[in-house]
Amino acid sequence: MNKMLALEFKITDWCNLACPHCPENSCTKNPPAFMPLEKIEEYVDEFQELPFNTSKNVAIGGGEGMAPYLFGNEDYVPTVIGVLNKFDKNVTIKTNASWGNTYKYRNPILKSLAKCAYFNNSLITLRMPVDEFHNNISGVSNIIADIVFSDYLLAALRVEITGFDTIGSVVARARLESDLGDKEIKMIDSRNDDLVAYDERGAGIHIRTDYVSGVPRLGRAVANHLYTSDETGGGFVNKLKIDNADNAILNNTVRAKIGGRSLMDVVQGLGEKMYGRQK
Ligand code: SF4
Repeated sequence: MNKMLALEFKITDWCNLACPHCPENSCTKNPPAFMPLEKIEEYVDEFQELPFNTSKNVAIGGGEGMAPYLFGNEDYVPTVIGVLNKFDKNVTIKTNASWGNTYKYRNPILKSLAKCAYFNNSLITLRMPVDEFHNNISGVSNIIADIVFSDYLLAALRVEITGFDTIGSVVARARLESDLGDKEIKMIDSRNDDLVAYDERGAGIHIRTDYVSGVPRLGRAVANHLYTSDETGGGFVNKLKIDNADNAILNNTVRAKIGGRSLMDVVQGLGEKMYGRQK
């Protein structure tokens, strides 16, 4: 457990997609139930006190991290962000971005998030996959375009693009570049192969590209010139995910029911399962 430990809340098992590779077993058949806010507050409070090198970044995911909005609950996500900001955490929302396809959803969601960021004096990161599975290129590209062309959104929202290390991802990246080009947003390769989306004023979103075994893949983390590469580079971070049924899952590998135990006890137990007892 020497690496940094980052926290993620799997707020729901529901997702509007049902990707064949889904590691979360999420789909529309799961109930659209959302983790109670008090629970999130209790867990982040406990996490804060752990005697480990803990990350300032907390992720909200699912299922679909934006699902509450899709069910007409406009308060849930901003309230969770407010709770996490109160603990001085930076918030990343993991989303498949399909809501970006429709103005009816995209406009109020982006405004709501920006309002929340301003109210809490914080920044919010949207982490979106771009690959052959999610069929969401236009959703992602619409979201990027809306942000790049709005000073209000650009000052509040960051974008991270993730993807798989496959030919399909390379094709998806090319499609995203082409779609953004149609919107007069330039995607250029910077010296280190990162992508930068610019509008004509020079307002930009910086999207980092990762390399896995020497092969370029769509980037994790980093946007709008904020670098967190120490935390996001492979091998630097242990990820503790807590789901809506009180399971703690370390690095998507080992899990345990929390069941009233302290988070310290649970995390140590998971670490032992994963790495063996430390001498
Ligand atoms: S979008 Fe993500 S959470 Fe939803 S089904 Fe696909 S992989 Fe799973």
